[in-house]
Formats: sequence, structure tokens, C-alpha cells
Amino acid sequence: MKVIDECCCECITQNLNRTKESCPVCNNEGVTVSRITVEHLVTDDYRNAVDGDQYKICMNEDCDVIYYNLDKEIKFLKDQVRVPIWFKKDADPKYACYCSKVTEEQVIEAVVKHGAKTVKEVNAITGAMKNSLCKENSPLGVCCHKIIQEAIDKGLTMK
Ligand SMILES: [Zn+2]
Repeated sequence: MKVIDECCCECITQNLNRTKESCPVCNNEGVTVSRITVEHLVTDDYRNAVDGDQYKICMNEDCDVIYYNLDKEIKFLKDQVRVPIWFKKDADPKYACYCSKVTEEQVIEAVVKHGAKTVKEVNAITGAMKNSLCKENSPLGVCCHKIIQEAIDKGLTMK
């Protein structure tokens, strides 16, 4: 069972808004991300290029496109954002919590070596979800709770 009331910023209640506007390169379905998030995540060189209010993020692990806005015909690629996007292939490091810079590896270690089983326990050990500014730090602009839970599940299967 997944506990959802431990979210650091209540943003988990906001469902990821999937629409049919697909990635201009790979044609995969994108997930809506707000402009604020995109502005914080692109490198300084590209911040001024951010235009339009709504972006999508391409969830295809093999695609180099991160954010795109079809109306404005803008797209930002992997090397135009500040942090590795955890679900893209070869992301290094793979962050589970972007706000506190805790990696998936650290979460798995907390589970395997220290016996943590819940998000709360993992947070206590790793310091994840301490400085929550998900809208600005997380590539999806939502709470990392779900990513941490997935890393825990991964760790539990390794035990
Ligand atoms: Zn794509």
C-alpha cells in the first residue's frame, strides 16, 4: 500500500496531467510542466528563451528532448538543462529527491543496509524531502515522494 499523506508539499494531490500533445521528436506522450519549473531547470543560457506558460516533458527514456512547447515551437534538450533527468537513459547521478539532492542509490542503500521500509524512514536516514521546493527543483515540478517510493520498492526487491 502506498501512503500518500506524507507528501512534503501537498502537490501529490495534483494529478499529473497527461494530454495528447506529444513530443515533436519521438511522438511519445508528454506530461504537463509549468513555466516556473522550466525556467528553473534550464541552464542560464536558455532561461531567456523560455516563452509560453505551459510546457510538456517528454517521458521517453531514449529521447533527448526534455521540455517542449508546441505552440511556441520551443524545445529544450538534455544538455540544455541543469540536472540529469532521472528517468532518461544514462542519467548520472539519478536523483530521487532533487530538492535535497538525494540519489536513488542513497535511497536503495537506506533500504538495503539500514532496513528502511517507508518514505518517512528513508527521509530520516538520507535527509530527502527536507528542503522542499519541488516546483523549482524537480524536473516534473511535483513532489519527489513518488520517485522515492519507487526507489524503495526497487531496494526492497534487492534484499
Ligand atoms: Zn521525446
